[in-house]
Amino acid sequence: MGIIPVKTPTIVKKILPDFVWEFSTSEKVLYLTFDDGPTPKVTQWTLNTLKQFDAKATFFCIGNNIQKHPDIFQNILNEGHRIGNHSNTHLKGWNTSVDKYVLDVNEAQKFITSELKKSDTRSQALNESPLFRPPYGRIKPNQGKALKALGYTVVTWSILSFDWEKETSPETCYNNVISKSKPGSVIVFHDSVKASKNLMQALPKVLTYFSKKGYAFKTLPI
Ligand SMILES: [Zn+2]
Repeated sequence: MGIIPVKTPTIVKKILPDFVWEFSTSEKVLYLTFDDGPTPKVTQWTLNTLKQFDAKATFFCIGNNIQKHPDIFQNILNEGHRIGNHSNTHLKGWNTSVDKYVLDVNEAQKFITSELKKSDTRSQALNESPLFRPPYGRIKPNQGKALKALGYTVVTWSILSFDWEKETSPETCYNNVISKSKPGSVIVFHDSVKASKNLMQALPKVLTYFSKKGYAFKTLPI
């Protein structure tokens, strides 16, 4: 069964370059992603929870947080999850020049690469193409093109849990995910303090719901 990345539709492609949104597949697979870590306690809780369900995921980490918490970053690697770049300082692309944006992303990639070199479990990830997710989803077309030219694959998402929003209840967060997910969906949660209340209630329920339906949770296949 083929798993094909669904890229930006042609009509939008004129504005945005090729970003990966979701995957087209008939396989019962979901791609959980966690942004903004590594965060003390929250990331470790996430790792423990995923393990209970034999679930793998992709963590889009902030370079500054990797620098502050390299031990937690290594734990992500040791559990066999995939890493993506979420910039060094969580920049808003719309307010930032292309050069500054690319520098910030490359800076984060330096920390990722140096940590991957230390990891026995995931050192082979050095050969995988680097993934980048724009903070806030706010990236200018020229920034996307510049990153693509440097070999990054820009990954957005198909499902937002809205776990970071104060007004969102854990129940709504859970429903946001289960009502819209389908085989190949790319789902966004946050392993951040801000999102932790919703995350810690909704994630185990999402994992339970889809495990019962026969779904597997895997790292991004690109
Ligand atoms: Zn973020």
